[in-house]
Amino acid sequence: MEKVNLDWENIGFSYRPTNTRYVSAYKDGRWSAGQLTEDANIVISESAGVLQYAQTIFEGLKAYTTKHGDIVAFRPDLNAQRLNDSAKRLEMPIFSEEQFLNGIEQVVKANAAYVPPYGSGATLYLRPFMYGSSPVIGVRPAEEYQFRIFSTPVGPYFKGGAKPLTLCVSEFDRAASRGTGHVKAGLNYAMSLYAGVTAKRNGFDENIYLDSATRTKVEETGGANFLFITKDKKVITPKSDTILPSITRRSLLYVAKVYLGLEVEEREVYLEELADFVECGICGTAAVLSPVGKVVDRDQEICFSSGMEKMGEITQKLYDTLTGVQMGDIVAPEGWIREIIKA
Ligand SMILES: *Cc1c(COP(=O)(O)O)cnc(C)c1O
Repeated sequence: MEKVNLDWENIGFSYRPTNTRYVSAYKDGRWSAGQLTEDANIVISESAGVLQYAQTIFEGLKAYTTKHGDIVAFRPDLNAQRLNDSAKRLEMPIFSEEQFLNGIEQVVKANAAYVPPYGSGATLYLRPFMYGSSPVIGVRPAEEYQFRIFSTPVGPYFKGGAKPLTLCVSEFDRAASRGTGHVKAGLNYAMSLYAGVTAKRNGFDENIYLDSATRTKVEETGGANFLFITKDKKVITPKSDTILPSITRRSLLYVAKVYLGLEVEEREVYLEELADFVECGICGTAAVLSPVGKVVDRDQEICFSSGMEKMGEITQKLYDTLTGVQMGDIVAPEGWIREIIKA
């Protein structure tokens, strides 16, 4: 396979259109067969549901080249299922898992030249999304929708190794109790932009959001779930109905338990307890697992003993094991790696 000529290690994390994307349209109660198109632009009504009332949901996953030279996707079935959980919450139509996986396969095959080579640290990021395309003016769900998948090559999230992050406890909330925090809706991101930009302006890498009901419990950052490590090497992740169920987090917990023999627990985590943990990391598709060195809560600083220079010991083990599973260095659990192009 002839690859496009890109400086894979230095492409960064930004949108770089590839040749081909997938599109299926929902009309009169059913989805069209779906096809590839070279047109990266979308023409819709000025009154489309997505434009007026933010009726849009998305997913994010990656395709990459393993050590063996295969091009694969990581657990895309879970993205298909989560997309449908989001669709139900926003009164959008279900998109079958089978068609979703077929769309992923078509997009990766058509853009194989953009799938970064093994060892570059880069991946082909896939962005499936669905939005209300027909006009609405009174508040109600659209009648027509589009489901699309585009792809864009992205560089290694952390060039030159992962430096521990400094987070601040946000004075804003990300997700209301019984709201939409548990689904991947664009609206959750629109309303977090102000809080995110404010945190960056104040010199922090990311926000920590607390539960909106009591503001005593740690939920997640704007786009990544938490893992904490206790003194006796137990892996803890916050439990809440308003956290987005990260596929990376679910995979890391499995790896911790089954591959590393660590005890894992999903439970409520109070802000007050943070100082008791020895390591902290945030996880998501893009960076897999990033170490957190420090948390700032108004005038109080919580410094994890893993420090500001490198990943904590357990965090590093978790990172190495999951990336090893993804890249084919370590045997993956059944069904985790979906082969798209055999070497
Ligand atoms: C997408 C997302 C994550 C990470 O989920 P992954 O499936 O691991 O990529 C975490 N939090 C929020 C709010 C998200 O939207």
